[in-house]
Amino acid sequence: MTEQLNPFKIAQAQLDKAAEKLNLDSQMHAFLREPMRELSVSIPVKMDDGSTKTFKGFRIQYNDARGPTKGGIRFHPQETIDTVRALSAWMTWKCAVADIPFGGSKGGIICDTKQMSQGEIERLSRGYIDQIWSFIGPEKDIPAPDVYTNPQIMAWMMDEYSKIRGHNVPGIITGKPIPLGGSLGRGDATAMGVVYTIREAAKVLGIDLKGATVAIQGYGNAGYHLARLLTNQGCKIIAVTDSKGGISREDGLDWKATKEHKDRTGSVIGYPGTKQLTNEECLAVKCDFLVPAALENQITGKNASNIKAKIVAEAANGPVTPEADEILYKRGVFQIPDFLCNAGGVTVSYFEWVQNIYGYYWSEEEVYERLDKKMTKAFYDVYEMAKKEDVDNRTAAYMVAVNRVAEAVKLRGWI
Ligand code: GLU
Repeated sequence: MTEQLNPFKIAQAQLDKAAEKLNLDSQMHAFLREPMRELSVSIPVKMDDGSTKTFKGFRIQYNDARGPTKGGIRFHPQETIDTVRALSAWMTWKCAVADIPFGGSKGGIICDTKQMSQGEIERLSRGYIDQIWSFIGPEKDIPAPDVYTNPQIMAWMMDEYSKIRGHNVPGIITGKPIPLGGSLGRGDATAMGVVYTIREAAKVLGIDLKGATVAIQGYGNAGYHLARLLTNQGCKIIAVTDSKGGISREDGLDWKATKEHKDRTGSVIGYPGTKQLTNEECLAVKCDFLVPAALENQITGKNASNIKAKIVAEAANGPVTPEADEILYKRGVFQIPDFLCNAGGVTVSYFEWVQNIYGYYWSEEEVYERLDKKMTKAFYDVYEMAKKEDVDNRTAAYMVAVNRVAEAVKLRGWI
């Protein structure tokens, strides 16, 4: 049988596994398997050549039992409603495992921003808000950045929403630029959260961060901040890739020079003094920490037995399939599951939202200190559950999260 690669089917299968371990009530299980609300939109956008192009977009609110829904917006040519469904489910479990008072949601637009001008991207961003504004709100559903979206796009979206409402609404979206109510520390929050969870995983496995070797698949926002932060912790970055391929160097790569090379040439490939490698080869590099920081379905039943890392820290959403999970678990690879590992971004998004509502802003030190506390607590909640129930870390993370969401659903009297 060929492996199931539909991300929503995967998200449901992951939930099913945890539901069985939890002995979850069948009515609760059926409810938690599906999104609560879905919106599909068509966005007409005036292109620079005078033509009008229609883009397809989605916003899905998976579950709001624990609070307003929260989740990013992806701009991606291969976006599908099922990817957005899966990502909105993972946001629900992510907010629950991080114990922040949000449900989960996600948005997506099928588009290729690499082929679009800044003006076209701005008109698309504003057009998306024009279509979904009544569906979202600072106490309802709060978007944020994700793959191929950034603070400037958040600024346009916040501005468009505020214009429609007739007043400034900074709390409608997070990941904004600092002058518009963004939080200090949000830019590298996902990477920072990944580092905190790697630090704790290394501690329990007895691996010294100093001199530990790292391979990173994906040198986007999360990937390159991660290279910087792990280098500062004394780790050696021995391989990195981007969508075109990658590079390796045994005695370590300079994160900054690599980033400058990528900004200049469009790829990390060709940085002097390095060996070229493919994304597939990057995943198989012998290292202490392997960090998939790109897209879903990267480590599958086909290549999981090639992994030589001690820890797989899932900075991306959904990078490991269920078949690969089984193989990695049997081989003793310590996985930090995605919705625990990359929860730093949404946690600082929550801090940003709190600051917007208070109109009172925190220092960077305060943000990182609070983030560290949240991530460390979440890590040990999952680690203890895995030990107690003798399950893999992903199932344990689901068990922690599903318990919390199910409790809120019950308290509301929905089931
Ligand atoms: N897009 C990020 C994620 O997948 C952040 C979401 C947010 O900040 O709301 O976790």
